[in-house]
Amino acid sequence: MAERIILHCDLNNFFASVECLGREELKGKPVAVGGSVEQRHGIILAKNETAKKYGVKTAEAIWQAEQKCPGLIVLPPHYDQYVRYSRLVRRIYEQYTDLIEPFGIDECWLDVTGSTKLFGPGERIAEQIRQTVKAKTGLTISVGVSFNKIFAKLGSDYKKPDAVTVFRREDMERLIWPLPAQEMLGVGASTLRSLHRIGIFTIGELAKTDPHMLRLVLGKGGETLWRFANGLDLSPVSLSGEEPVPKSVGRSTTTPQDMRTAEDIALTLLWLSERVSRELRANHALATVVQVHLRDNRLNVTEHQRRLQQPVRLAELLRKTGLALILEAWDGVTPLRSIGIRAAGLVHEDESFQLCFGSDYEQLERMERLERAVERMKEKYGRDAILRCRQIAGGKPGQHLAFKGVVN
Ligand SMILES: [Mg+2]
Repeated sequence: MAERIILHCDLNNFFASVECLGREELKGKPVAVGGSVEQRHGIILAKNETAKKYGVKTAEAIWQAEQKCPGLIVLPPHYDQYVRYSRLVRRIYEQYTDLIEPFGIDECWLDVTGSTKLFGPGERIAEQIRQTVKAKTGLTISVGVSFNKIFAKLGSDYKKPDAVTVFRREDMERLIWPLPAQEMLGVGASTLRSLHRIGIFTIGELAKTDPHMLRLVLGKGGETLWRFANGLDLSPVSLSGEEPVPKSVGRSTTTPQDMRTAEDIALTLLWLSERVSRELRANHALATVVQVHLRDNRLNVTEHQRRLQQPVRLAELLRKTGLALILEAWDGVTPLRSIGIRAAGLVHEDESFQLCFGSDYEQLERMERLERAVERMKEKYGRDAILRCRQIAGGKPGQHLAFKGVVN
């Protein structure tokens, strides 16, 4: 069987690069993209090469980064632009193969084994793609070319930005094995600690260790890492992230009695947001835009929308944004007959997981898990099995979930 030819393409400093496009005044200056810039506790989401030289790191607090790098320019993220450019670059990859597997918003594996008759050897395809991306978007990519996905990814990290690295099978011992073990996909912080404990520091040392021993120390994953390190990864470039997401998801309702207070609206909106959130989950999607509409008792309809700084699907965040929008659009006096909330500008969850880092991300993850767990209980025990305190008549309004009792 002929050797596979796999490319791993990685957009360099993606968010920061997009922010700097067409802005000559930022050239050569240290630039970072930060979440919640207006608040001091925001964190660094991305940085450019200049900021990197000052030691600015992803996921550290903005104030820490500013201490290391006085004059650091911190810009807010523009998620819709990242999605736009990510898709634009993807269109370029599609000219060379239809076997494309995205890994986050800025990385893709390409299997170009079947494309060499048309476009030449893997190295030449990589070079063409690198040049085309640069010419058409102004962004740079680094590309790794190898015979499996793991080594292709190592290659795109090996030399960057704006570079192509080829790892052939015969290069393995000389070029790959001396690299630190943590450079390899699958070796996270805790695995690395375990490897260090048994004296394994490089990919080569990992490759030469008895796989049974690795299994004892790391479980089943240990054998997988051993195979990776020996160039035995056979996993195919799979077509993921391609299920089409709907354009938008929305819910609206007319209440039995007109809504007269912000609390009335908040309660209805919570119920609607939970349904929108559930549908987003079912579609593997997140929203970058929230829209609301309200109809008052004179049947006047008002619509209002907001673009979000980062994609969301938590019911609680949809509700918060929706409520703020409604209260902006409502005169506060005219009773409302119906309201609706719509999640729009949807992106696939594969495209969005990378935007969140650090502490913000951990909290979002916890809330996501909580909402999922609540959804599962509702599916099992009925929709009233768990309610938020504010949904129970006479209960105190608040964020907490209350158990109303479970009926089997
Ligand atoms: Mg990247």
